Amino acid sequence: MDVDAGHGAALGRALPATPSQVGSASPLSLTQRLRSFLSFQGNDDDPVSELARTHRSIHPSADVALLRRSYAIAESMHRGQFRKSGDPYITHPLAVAQICAELGMDTTTLVASLLHDTVEDTSYTLEALEGDFGAEVTHLVDGVTKFDKAFYGKAAEGETIRKMIVAAGKDVRVLVIKLADRLHNMRTLGARSPASRARIANATLDVLVPLCDRLGIQALKRDLDDVVLYHLEPDSFARIEEHVKNRPGWNEYLTDVSAKARAALRRSRVDAEVTARPRHYYSIWKDTVAGGHAVPLDLPRIAVVVDGPETDCYAALGAIHGRWRPVAGRFKDFIASPKNNLYRSLHTTVVGPEGRLVEVLIRTQTMHRYSEYGVATSYRYPKVSDEPPGSDQLTWLKRVLDWQQDTTDAAQFLDSLRCDLAEAQITVFAHGNAYELPSGSTPVDLAYELGTQKGDQCIAATINGRLAPLSSPLRDGDVVEIFSENDGQVENEPSSSRGPRKEWLGFVKSSQAQMQINRFFDERNEPGISINDKVRLGRATIGLTLRKHDRGLASEVPLRRLAEDMGYPDLETLLVAVCERTVEPDAVVEQLIAMVDHPD
Ligand code: MN
Repeated sequence: MDVDAGHGAALGRALPATPSQVGSASPLSLTQRLRSFLSFQGNDDDPVSELARTHRSIHPSADVALLRRSYAIAESMHRGQFRKSGDPYITHPLAVAQICAELGMDTTTLVASLLHDTVEDTSYTLEALEGDFGAEVTHLVDGVTKFDKAFYGKAAEGETIRKMIVAAGKDVRVLVIKLADRLHNMRTLGARSPASRARIANATLDVLVPLCDRLGIQALKRDLDDVVLYHLEPDSFARIEEHVKNRPGWNEYLTDVSAKARAALRRSRVDAEVTARPRHYYSIWKDTVAGGHAVPLDLPRIAVVVDGPETDCYAALGAIHGRWRPVAGRFKDFIASPKNNLYRSLHTTVVGPEGRLVEVLIRTQTMHRYSEYGVATSYRYPKVSDEPPGSDQLTWLKRVLDWQQDTTDAAQFLDSLRCDLAEAQITVFAHGNAYELPSGSTPVDLAYELGTQKGDQCIAATINGRLAPLSSPLRDGDVVEIFSENDGQVENEPSSSRGPRKEWLGFVKSSQAQMQINRFFDERNEPGISINDKVRLGRATIGLTLRKHDRGLASEVPLRRLAEDMGYPDLETLLVAVCERTVEPDAVVEQLIAMVDHPD
């Protein structure tokens, strides 16, 4: 049992080795470059050996000769090019391939990783690449090759991401390479100016980290998270690093908890492995900031991986809760209510030895693999034919691909993608049921989810047993109770209900709550509802109706065209009509879908 693992960077160090590397933005002299180049050449006469070793350790019969051949071509093409750090350029594709190898990706991915910048940055062409390595590798390299900024100008970024998403629709390995590429670039940002470090770190946080999360590759996401934190919040990073390095008795405590957990599981006849599972820096930071704590909040954490079916997870939970008292409101069931990626586990917090809180993750071996490696799992474990648990993780990607076809404008595509990625869901529990809500939702959103009357009449809420303002943002896993004015009365009995408050519109997040609140005021013919409100409401209705058809709208262009086709002077008039129900939202959406799917 490896309780001494310390900070678990699954993919090697997340950060530059020495602090001096980080601050030095000054360009290296030619001699320095030459020296670093020579030392690179001299120290290791087989630069591919580590890559080959890692790859073979996961895929014993892999074709290592192919790796050497692609390295040789990449090295000769990039010869004479240098990174901003002064390192020979080839160190970058080699490092990207190493990250992919540690994830357990197949030989094709590693070959493409080694060659991923050749077409963009050298005279090597896609044709030559296809001749040398075949169509699969070419598709992967082409997918991560950027559009020329000089040619596409400002649209280049959006076009590049769109191209990558389309390529990933055919082969998701494109995104894995792109993420590994970005991770290595982030690790070597030290040589850049502070402004460009912040710009790149923010762009990573904006699109690539959420993409990585959707693909479920937690092993990679942890490292991306940490390196982003390092560049954006250097002081917080240093504080947390200091805290993690200086936790007296931490390892001893985890060893003790793990041993006691093992004994409890044995007594309940649950076959399971128990390991210490330290949080990564970003996750410590997030909880510290969220809770407003002065010192880093970092509870000891263990993982229980059961050696049996899903039901064993609940048996293990029983064993753990039987040994230590669970903390109310901290239990989360991501098996019964899965997240929108491949993550599956039970989470609980218990009052452990010495009265200290301990977090416990419980999962099967299959869940463990998918939780760590997401879409990379089937490459890492090709012989295990386990189906991914839960829903198809690529439905989302397919939906994105659907609306990318409707968007002519790349910048707009990027905006919609960002929006879609940001639309994280949380699961909260109320009255014994789990409810999915957009993240940032409040007790009012939940109340309307429970029913219109419950929403209209809600007056108070408790979150995890504590009374909280109706505007409090809910967090994933919160247990919420909603109190409404007429609780205990007969349903539909007329009451002197005070009804919803106008100001709720300022904080509710779900379209459901927004619509119902507006409807309330609309019905009472409050003078308050403006044309603008009606337009907003109409738009929300269309959005909601589209969702029922599992569709989204990447741009307003088709909707504008439809408004025109239907004889409205403009889109706003159509939206008001939808809001006032002079036209049925279902009818509008059906026509819209027909128009988008059959443009002529
Ligand atoms: Mn690259």
